[in-house]
Amino acid sequence: MSEALLNLSFTLAAFVFNVTLCVLVTVYGTEDKHKNLTFRNFTYILLIGNVITICDVFFRRSAIVYIPYTLRLIIYVLSFLSNVMLTYFFAKYAESFFQTNKRRKFFSTLNDIILVGLFATAFVCFFLTLPHISDDKYSYLLPSVPKLILAYYSELYYLLYAMVVFLVNARDLNKRARITAAAAFTVTISVIIFELFNPTEIYFNYFGAILGLYIFYIGVETPDYKNLMATMKELEIARLKADEANRSKSEFLANMSHEIRTPINAVVGMNEMILREAHEPEIIEYSHNIESAGRGLLSIINDILDFSKIEAGKMELHEGPYKSGSLISDIAVMLSVKAKEKNLQFDVDVNETLPDGLIGDEVRVRQIVVNVLNNAIKYTEKGGVRLAVDYTRVADICTLIFKVSDTGIGIKKEDLPKVFEKFDRVDMEKNKTIEGTGLGLAIVKRLLSMMNGSIDVESEYGKGSTFTLRVPQKVDKDEAIGDYRKKFNSSFATQDGYKELFLAPDAEILVVDDTVVNLTVVKALLKKTQIRIDVAKSAAEALVKTVQKHYDTILLDNRMPGMDGAEALPIMRTQEGGLNHETPIICLTADAISGARERYLAEGFTDYLTKPIESVALELMLLKYLPQDKVK
Ligand code: ADP
Repeated sequence: MSEALLNLSFTLAAFVFNVTLCVLVTVYGTEDKHKNLTFRNFTYILLIGNVITICDVFFRRSAIVYIPYTLRLIIYVLSFLSNVMLTYFFAKYAESFFQTNKRRKFFSTLNDIILVGLFATAFVCFFLTLPHISDDKYSYLLPSVPKLILAYYSELYYLLYAMVVFLVNARDLNKRARITAAAAFTVTISVIIFELFNPTEIYFNYFGAILGLYIFYIGVETPDYKNLMATMKELEIARLKADEANRSKSEFLANMSHEIRTPINAVVGMNEMILREAHEPEIIEYSHNIESAGRGLLSIINDILDFSKIEAGKMELHEGPYKSGSLISDIAVMLSVKAKEKNLQFDVDVNETLPDGLIGDEVRVRQIVVNVLNNAIKYTEKGGVRLAVDYTRVADICTLIFKVSDTGIGIKKEDLPKVFEKFDRVDMEKNKTIEGTGLGLAIVKRLLSMMNGSIDVESEYGKGSTFTLRVPQKVDKDEAIGDYRKKFNSSFATQDGYKELFLAPDAEILVVDDTVVNLTVVKALLKKTQIRIDVAKSAAEALVKTVQKHYDTILLDNRMPGMDGAEALPIMRTQEGGLNHETPIICLTADAISGARERYLAEGFTDYLTKPIESVALELMLLKYLPQDKVK
């Protein structure tokens, strides 16, 4: 086959491929209409270029048919322009893969300016002898270097630009797009290089270009793939929106909990004063009702807060050494009071060889066991509740086994898997008078899984249920807890009726809180201890008092308008002429979020107390920090 025919057949083959691709993107690309049109435009431009090239090859290069010089010149200029346009659109196509930024916008404008310049060049070329034009005898003239550059530089510039755009931003592409772009570039650029150094007059460029385009089409431009990518983008946007909404929800809950806890603090505290001082049975009964409603509300808020923390992945465990004996004793004391209120039998059975010194998150272990025991009492009307504590041990890991059995309403077999779901409450016709949010066991289960523990339930409907909790903890000291019952009974004895733990008429403390009712509550709670109490309604007021008097302990509210507790603390510690540089300063906070304790201690507070302030907790805290000689 002659060179001329070979040349023509390559160009025609490129044309056939190109027409096919144009049909494909036109017919199947329609779903894409409002999205990325660049690829389609690119394909059309290629087709126009291809037609011009066929003319170029047919009339000029191969000189199969003789045409006058001027006509050949026109065809040359058109072919030059179509090459330029093609690479220009390829640069645009490369840009369409990425989001526009300032730099890309700049280069995109620069590309437009260069394009205008090239059109001007083409106009000039029209009047000059041109690189690739053959002489009148149709033989090919190798152009001079400047002309060669003129003919190719623009195309090379745009191609290079497209390549750089892909390379610089490759990380933003998925693997498939990266491989596609790399394959398309390799094919197209190899063909162009081959063409550049090709001694014959066979013209391959369009063949290379259409191959590259097919690779892009198969790789990333098929409608199915485009739809998938568009859907994934929508999903990503939806995910971001959901994350944002979840964040605001958590923030809202944290703020709400603070806002709600503060007034409950006042209600529960004031109510406690009524309980202590009232003598009429009716008033005492009302007051008891207020107390139980207040505590109920508080526990709901805590549940919601805990759950939203767990859901947001922000719940953290804070491990430390603790005594299993005191943990079990606290739990037993607390729950025996509740069982007694419902006239239920309450038994605790503890394996005496259980190691006393453990390491774990005591607060969360207590929360888990109390929650399950609370349910047992809540869902039992007669009979009793039993807590059995046992353990298994492997090396220094002791798995605590808490078995909570009740003789309550039981759970139907089909409902058993549901009890650990959030907001799921089962057997509602029987349970509708029992208050609950359905969050308790969901929290228990999630906390346990954070501790690598587990919870199982067995139940016989109408007869009772047994929940078994397994909590792995590290052993700190090997000492056994021994006869635990003695401890339990002695603590239990102190629970009937309020009696102040100590008297300290010589002790002086300062209480700082912007909510006046809180100051009144603390004063009232400590009335019988005879402690002398100064109050301040702001950090600024407190800072005046701390230079006037030495206090044995300072209770400092954390959240106050103007200067807050955390800001006032370092000033108190260092203030010039201050008399309280060493005084224990206890943070008062409504913030019950886990991790709060560590945060306050890190900020320099000696300790912290959560609101609503409980009288026993307050007295125990003061007992710990007041000078021994002032306490009776
Ligand atoms: P709630 O706030 O409703 O008590 P929980 O998550 O603690 O939520 O419990 C989920 C459901 O499991 C309860 O609504 C109740 O139907 C059932 N349940 C939990 N503990 C017991 C039990 N000891 N006896 C019978 N039913 C129980």
